[in-house]
Amino acid sequence: MQYNSTRNHKQTASPAEAVLRGIAPDGGLYLCDPATLPLDPAEMLQKDFAGMAEAVLVRLLPDYTPEMLRPMIAAAYGKFDTADITPLVMVGDYHVLELFHGPTCAFKDVALSLLPYLITGAKQLLNDKAKTVILTATSGDTGKAALEGFCDVTSTSIVAFYPKDGVSKIQERQMVTQRGKNVSVAAVRGNFDDAQTGVKHIFAEVKPTEKAELSSANSINIGRLAPQVVYYFRAYGDLVKSGRIHLGDVVDYTVPTGNFGDILAGYFARQMGLPVGRLICASNANDVLTEFLTTGRYDKRRPFYKTTSPSMDILVSSNLERLLYLVSQDASCVERLMRELNTQGWYQVSGWMLEQLRAVFGCGCCDDAGAAEVIGRVWRKHRYLCDPHTAVAWAVAEKHTREGVPMVVLSTASPYKFPAAVLHALGEASGDDEFAMMEQLHALTGMDIPKNLRGLEGRPVLHTDVIDKDAMLDYVLSDVLK
Ligand SMILES: *Cc1c(COP(=O)(O)O)cnc(C)c1O
Repeated sequence: MQYNSTRNHKQTASPAEAVLRGIAPDGGLYLCDPATLPLDPAEMLQKDFAGMAEAVLVRLLPDYTPEMLRPMIAAAYGKFDTADITPLVMVGDYHVLELFHGPTCAFKDVALSLLPYLITGAKQLLNDKAKTVILTATSGDTGKAALEGFCDVTSTSIVAFYPKDGVSKIQERQMVTQRGKNVSVAAVRGNFDDAQTGVKHIFAEVKPTEKAELSSANSINIGRLAPQVVYYFRAYGDLVKSGRIHLGDVVDYTVPTGNFGDILAGYFARQMGLPVGRLICASNANDVLTEFLTTGRYDKRRPFYKTTSPSMDILVSSNLERLLYLVSQDASCVERLMRELNTQGWYQVSGWMLEQLRAVFGCGCCDDAGAAEVIGRVWRKHRYLCDPHTAVAWAVAEKHTREGVPMVVLSTASPYKFPAAVLHALGEASGDDEFAMMEQLHALTGMDIPKNLRGLEGRPVLHTDVIDKDAMLDYVLSDVLK
């Protein structure tokens, strides 16, 4: 089985190569067609989380044998604070899929706990002896989850770039206190898209040598996407087990979306045979995807808003490129659209393509005030505390609920990662010390502070680099690749 670039179907790679390289040499994203890799839902539902993960990964990344994957999966998910890994919690009429029980309290952990193993496994499979330098641009959560995942993993090093004023204090503190001999962290003067563009530029400029090669921990890496397919099956299985649905019934999922990785994993699950009904793409005030899924026009020339859900503050949603390919099956079309996005700042897909997309994907957006309203209301009504990203999804889900079809709302972060916004939403005054706010939130709600966020304040700051966005390439060349 081969992966190919979304921009040229002749540009191929084995699954292990796709994982190790992260991005295709032509700038496209590696992809296989999940519709050609079916999994039997009935069989899947017999398995526990680890068994489901093994089945999904063997299917999507067949270079890895079950014997290789089993210990990787056990090690990756041993770090989660619940044996369920991704518990499904009933809150009012919705099923909230909690994806934040990993080491950094955000959904990125589900994939980034496993990715380092997949990368070291790929190096074994390919007999690759070079040092792998992982580059990541982060809007807050990826960086920490990747730093944690790759910390002290042999023959790798990792650099996390984050927008200087674009992440929460807690997120920043999580990153700048990261230990590990092989980690670097730099704040970039700019927004997340600047950081992401900078990383793409570095990939284009730096060619692999025998000593060092670059790879990515962003969701452009197929090794990030594959593990995320698992929890769509898992949530469905939980609904069947609890008697809420029968096997074969459709279930809708609403996904708080930024780079389109999480929701694309849902599309993979659907194409692989899971009875997914509609996938609802929820955005914050940065509503470029809402406009796209409504009109077929993707236009990045728009104001960039800093919101209370910073992990979704994005103008260029990288993984959409994969969806465009899967729907069109036409690499030259994707290549043209991506070129237009680069040169003129926008593109328009055909009416036929928009129709295909809208047959599966719903969309909606919700601003900070709307998200705050949901946090307050859900707390008062159900005594359930959700973070601003989850609240955006909840608000959008409310506009897309269908009679008789269960709705799963993906919950992507612990509310304790965003205590300022959450306290504000609950109508509480707060100072400007986010650590004191965590305590305040705990006193107010009685919900435990996750142990990985407790004690963050006292940890020593180990990373202080602040650089211009144009200096990212030099930073990598002089600091990491030297
Ligand atoms: C990354 C992230 C998202 C967006 O996920 P994508 O895969 O980029 O669409 C949503 N919520 C949180 C908390 C995140 O960290």
